[in-house]
Amino acid sequence: MQTQTLVLLLAINMICSGGLYYLIVRQMPPGSGLGLWSAAAILFGGAYLMRMIEGLHQPTLASPVLDVVMVAAAAMFLAGLREFLGRRSVNWAAVAIGAAAYAVVLGLANLAWGAQGRYVLLNGALGAIWLAFGATAARSLWRGDDPAMRAPMAVAALLIGTLGVLTLLRGAVIAIVGTESMYGTTPSAIYYIYASIAVILQTMNFLWMVFLRLQTRLAELASHDALTRLLNRNGLDEQLQRHFARRETQPVTLLQLDVDHFKRINDAHGHAVGDVVLQAVAGALTAHVRGGDFVARVGGEEFVIGCVGGGRAAAEALAERVRASVGALRIETPGAAPQTVGCTVSIGVSREFASLDRWEMAWREADNALYSAKQGGRNRVAMYAPA
Ligand code: GH3
Ligand code: MG
Ligand code: MG
Repeated sequence: MQTQTLVLLLAINMICSGGLYYLIVRQMPPGSGLGLWSAAAILFGGAYLMRMIEGLHQPTLASPVLDVVMVAAAAMFLAGLREFLGRRSVNWAAVAIGAAAYAVVLGLANLAWGAQGRYVLLNGALGAIWLAFGATAARSLWRGDDPAMRAPMAVAALLIGTLGVLTLLRGAVIAIVGTESMYGTTPSAIYYIYASIAVILQTMNFLWMVFLRLQTRLAELASHDALTRLLNRNGLDEQLQRHFARRETQPVTLLQLDVDHFKRINDAHGHAVGDVVLQAVAGALTAHVRGGDFVARVGGEEFVIGCVGGGRAAAEALAERVRASVGALRIETPGAAPQTVGCTVSIGVSREFASLDRWEMAWREADNALYSAKQGGRNRVAMYAPA
């Protein structure tokens, strides 16, 4: 296949994938990286296409401009990856300064060394950026930032890191052999075939990354409460199912908690302060449970703790610790004139249950005990006792 055809396919491929990213990014929350990848792919593909139109062997005045566009587009691919990984957002001033500096160096290389200088510089710069891209993916993999993202990060590191090495090699060949080596030779064919495959695979990889990210976020949203980040009803059910599905599982004791006179806090300080109090209570609960226990927010100011193993004595001790620590909270209200707000909780404790089908019953027992705690004057723990 002629190098010309390969480059044309590569260009069309990039423009199409850029268009696809653009269609998807409009339905995405910010920070997905897709916006930058879209612009980068369209710019890069467009620059290749322009180069085909002007003719591979006849550099014109536009050639240095296309070089700058390609380097800027490669930098945007890297910036998109950094955005996806939650690193610092793009510093456009730095990008502009970088592009201007590159243009100056390009002019000097062109003067001193003609087209050969331009192409060596271009491949050197692109190779360095692809290597940085591969290294960024490899570092995220190494640091274990996001376990779900391990496989696509490994693919990106391998694919684009290799592209970086090949691009640097290509620059070296051009420096040694000259611009005749650029097109129509076996190494150049290998280079463009690899680049085309890398673009196709990395396009799928980008989409895989975005899909995995969305999937993780949706699962998190479906099982967690937005205000306190605790499990919601749905997440609690899933946890219990997972717990009792294990072959060797321990019985669970249920604690049901309800903030005392919470309506008064809302009425006195406003709903926003009420929300801050709920977050503080959630923090106090999480601070006291052990690793295997679960904490959920199951109503406005109602929480549930599943105390795993240890029996009722451990559950009662946990309830007492939680009650005391919530009672000791001094929550500073946000706003211009901060005040401190305190609150107490009443807690009902069920009997132990050792299977999922006893869960509704345990809930009723805890609710029953909670009612006794409220009746008994609030800010207390009540253990369920069968009549
Ligand atoms: P008791 O001691 O009997 O439990 O009294 P209470 O005032 O806590 O009980 P009640 O159930 O009457 O009031 C609960 C209040 O919780 C009513 C509702 O406005 C408030 N609430 C429910 N969800 C939220 C929330 O997400 N944020 C805030 N700030 N308030 C909430
Ligand atoms: Mg309530
Ligand atoms: Mg209440």
